[in-house]
Amino acid sequence: MAAFLIVLQGKAEQIEKIAPVNCGVCTLKIRKGTVYQHRHGYYCEACSKLKTRCSLCGIPVTKPVASTKDGRLVCSYDISNVVLDEKIASALFQKTRKSLVQQFGKVFALKNPEVTTSMFDVDYWNKKNGGQGSGALHRIGFSHSRQTGNNLVHGVILLSGQFRDDLRSVCAHEYTHLWINENKADGRKIDPDLVEGICELIAYKLNQKSKNQSQLDKILSNPYTKGQVNQLTKLTRQYPVHTILEWIKTGTGDQLDQKSLSTFNTLSYRRQFGVVATKSTKTTQKPDVLRLTGILKIRKNPIALINGKTFKQNDVKTIKLKSGPIRIRCLKVTDTYVEIENVGTGKKEILKLP
Ligand SMILES: [Zn+2]
Ligand SMILES: [Zn+2]
Ligand SMILES: [Zn+2]
Repeated sequence: MAAFLIVLQGKAEQIEKIAPVNCGVCTLKIRKGTVYQHRHGYYCEACSKLKTRCSLCGIPVTKPVASTKDGRLVCSYDISNVVLDEKIASALFQKTRKSLVQQFGKVFALKNPEVTTSMFDVDYWNKKNGGQGSGALHRIGFSHSRQTGNNLVHGVILLSGQFRDDLRSVCAHEYTHLWINENKADGRKIDPDLVEGICELIAYKLNQKSKNQSQLDKILSNPYTKGQVNQLTKLTRQYPVHTILEWIKTGTGDQLDQKSLSTFNTLSYRRQFGVVATKSTKTTQKPDVLRLTGILKIRKNPIALINGKTFKQNDVKTIKLKSGPIRIRCLKVTDTYVEIENVGTGKKEILKLP
């Protein structure tokens, strides 16, 4: 039988022959007419005329398995990956927050730890803007911080009926807003697109850690931050996320570039980086070997990170190994390796980046 195969949200495709298939919507064998192809399977011409569609994937729906309170349907294929319940959304936010603090260290925790989370049904932001404006995107989350006395009260609201993975990225994004609200100096202006870019960057880094490629692709192709997130991910190859966090806390200006990253408060950054590094190596607090885990460039002077301690050229520091403490002198730091000397034995060694 001759049939058209129509790929939803893509190009129509014509094929000569197709073996009889069952409609993935009404489950009947498709005997005539156009066959539609969808990522969840084929469906028949009769089903294609249904007005009821899954709000997430667009496949026609006969008997909806679930719906949000405002009437958005969810198909049986997607239901297991969709968050409809406020309690589950709140738990997802708290879990994401925990992962972020684990990933970026104590510096990324909130000083005012209480965050109320709630769920909303209608995408009221898009409605308010008539679907236009910078917020129109995927406004599937909002965050707000309110000053009460000396404290900030944080809140996050999340749109119901979204894919769990999407919502997790949104949780990371909104959490970053709260962190920026807490840490940016009063009255300091940071370009709003850049703020959105930094929030997306954190979501990106979270998904990078959990190796969620489809989320990474989504974040990079989302026009929401007007290219900021793409530039920021490139920038973090040289300047780790912590330098950006530090710039928010102690930097000046409303735009971020290499120059502003390399000129902010170096001492404070190193202190914080040290904290973070110790935390991230907590499982190997007393390793048996020396390990070079990073090289940072601040004001043109490279700083090496060896077993969680920072070394400039000529620095002498003690590192605790399983076999006991050793004194190390840093002889040379390059972009890719360091040369060190064991002060006790005089033995020289090259440590390369992993
Ligand atoms: Zn059908
Ligand atoms: Zn669906
Ligand atoms: Zn945002």
